Amino acid sequence: MTLSLGELNRMDRAAFAGALGAAFEHSPWIAEAAWQKRPFAGIDALHRAMVDAIMSAGRERQLALLQAHPELGASRIATEFSRQEQAAAGLGRGEPDAAVALRDLNRHYRDRFGFPFILAVAGKSRADILAAISQRIGHAAEVEFTTALDEVAKIGRFRLAALVADDDADGLAGAGERLMSEADALGAITEVPGTVTRTFLTPQHRAAAQRVLASMREAGMAASTDAIGNVVGRYEGARPGLPALLLGSHLDTVRDAGKYDGILGVLTAIACVAALQRRGERLPFAIEVIGFGDEEGVRFQSTLLGSRAVAGTFDNAVLERKDADGISLREAMVSFGLDPAAIPTAARRCGDVLGYLELHIEQGPVLEARDLPVGIVTSIAGAMRANFALVGQSGHAGTVPMPLRRDALAAAAEIILAIEERARNDGGVVATVGRIAASPGAANVIPGKAEFSLDLRSAEDATRLAVYADIVASAQAIALKRGVALTLDGTLESPAVACSDRLMAGIERAIVAQGMTPLRLPSGAGHDAMALAGLCEVGMIFVRCKGGISHNPAESITAADAETGARVLLELLRHFPRP
Ligand SMILES: [Zn+2]
Repeated sequence: MTLSLGELNRMDRAAFAGALGAAFEHSPWIAEAAWQKRPFAGIDALHRAMVDAIMSAGRERQLALLQAHPELGASRIATEFSRQEQAAAGLGRGEPDAAVALRDLNRHYRDRFGFPFILAVAGKSRADILAAISQRIGHAAEVEFTTALDEVAKIGRFRLAALVADDDADGLAGAGERLMSEADALGAITEVPGTVTRTFLTPQHRAAAQRVLASMREAGMAASTDAIGNVVGRYEGARPGLPALLLGSHLDTVRDAGKYDGILGVLTAIACVAALQRRGERLPFAIEVIGFGDEEGVRFQSTLLGSRAVAGTFDNAVLERKDADGISLREAMVSFGLDPAAIPTAARRCGDVLGYLELHIEQGPVLEARDLPVGIVTSIAGAMRANFALVGQSGHAGTVPMPLRRDALAAAAEIILAIEERARNDGGVVATVGRIAASPGAANVIPGKAEFSLDLRSAEDATRLAVYADIVASAQAIALKRGVALTLDGTLESPAVACSDRLMAGIERAIVAQGMTPLRLPSGAGHDAMALAGLCEVGMIFVRCKGGISHNPAESITAADAETGARVLLELLRHFPRP
């Protein structure tokens, strides 16, 4: 009968030892000792606990365990497991000469070491077995004692696979629910009660960072805060000091945000490391999970502060920027306990980093429309912002005839419609006028001044720049026709970033391995990956969100999609494409 891990984890000591007693020959004490280490996340963890019990049991019990094993090929066979294993290896069948040879070797072996020859015979032929005994008979006694215990451990692993059904093959069973409840807990850490609002270097940033640091440590990572206030957890690879694959996203939010933008990528990365740790897996590289302190740029009006510091592109001029209360970034860092002069120490060297992977909610409706839980990001749109200021002539709403007016707001309206028209005619760009102001702002006064913002994005920088040039030409023509003066200034420009072909292919393989259709899509929103692209190859996994809504309390994902995202990320880590 096969037991599930869940059932085993709930058993009392006697039942547990009874259920697993057969894993090791006549030695229920091993299961009894392992029982104390419940719950087990997988068969490997259970096996490790049992082997640990053997290794710490002392010489006498270890010897008794070895002596409890039947002789290979002997007619007197101790347990059902032994009989089946030996029969599968062709022992105990015909060929009397070979049987005699094995019996003689066995006797010779037992005389020499004081216990029978033990070998995990699964997959081995009779010839393999004879070769192994002939070779091991020449071992020094201590070496052979350890070798025999290793074989006992291997046999135990095979037997556990037959006794226990692994209901958590990848270590992520239930991860979706855990991710949702952890996102809820972090969402409750907010500057404004009733909303999710967590900006850079606030007490709420600190509280969220501390919670994430604790999760990182629980997942087996060495975790600390870096010089710009990012939290960084490191899970060593097969040996310490290997180059690291960076995973992460941001801990900060916009005002009145949702619970998943940013934080989902950090929590999912930690969940993957926790799964590796539970199963005792080390990869051929280190993993570093980073929770960036500032991506949204809400407090100091400058985005990607955390990831720019890691990429080594932090602009020190930003230190003098002030928040709405007149506190500079430099001052805020000092009162948070950080030293602005140490920011360069947060930067990574190219050779220490294998790449950067970020899982993030899509913030758009494409995956939902295609009925897919996850997607592969191809590029992050380049973005620019500009301010348009128009100066005409204010005047009395009742006395200035229409042909004589120089109405700045009407000119702005015509330009805004021209912007929309131009962007609509080009599938590769999105243009948004999100803010407008008119002055003097009275119902009975012709607006003499108007000002509005433009946000223009495209996955193709050339397209964006061409569309912007057209918009500027139209705006100038409209301003000239209407007799208003136009001034323009750009406030932010970030070029488009292409995701690495290698990482996209790796994500695609991971999605296919999970039985899903891979869909590639661009990201219209900016992400930490943009900054990291200056340091290393970047890749992004999108997770479906309801209605494509983000930067809003209505932001919503499902536990199942969160778990799928984690599965894809973990699959990718386990089969990471090396350069
Ligand atoms: Zn984000």
